[in-house]
Amino acid sequence: MFGRFLLATSVLLASSSAFAACSVDIDGNDAMQFNLKNIDVPKTCTEFTVNLSHSGKLAKNVMGHNWILVKTADLQAVANDGMAAGLDKDYIKAGDTRVIAHTKVIGAGEKASVTFATSKLDAAGAYTFFCSFPGHWALMKGTLKLI
Ligand code: ZN
Repeated sequence: MFGRFLLATSVLLASSSAFAACSVDIDGNDAMQFNLKNIDVPKTCTEFTVNLSHSGKLAKNVMGHNWILVKTADLQAVANDGMAAGLDKDYIKAGDTRVIAHTKVIGAGEKASVTFATSKLDAAGAYTFFCSFPGHWALMKGTLKLI
């Protein structure tokens, strides 16, 4: 009987995730952390949406967070150029073609979303998402894969 309950539950989870699979919710906090370390983007999605929230109490000029997607090989250079760009540019160098997708910088209680075409991703590619607020990317980063 317990086994049957588990089976029914897993079927429910599978069907609900089919609807949610083309987007992900990710949160940043005052401890300079994202609540996700990995994001899987299904190949079946033509577009993928990232919904960023900030569950902390600090303002964006103190503990701002954004979500930026790059090829892992570009991470350090994009982060360094972004730091120099400043908060009013969302810590992203103007016209940076290495940035695949990004949100603006948000502070406590704010939200931001970005939707991008999955055709920008390669299943063989290595991608990293991170926050480009100065000093954050060492902790606030994770891997993204097209699966
Ligand atoms: Zn941050």
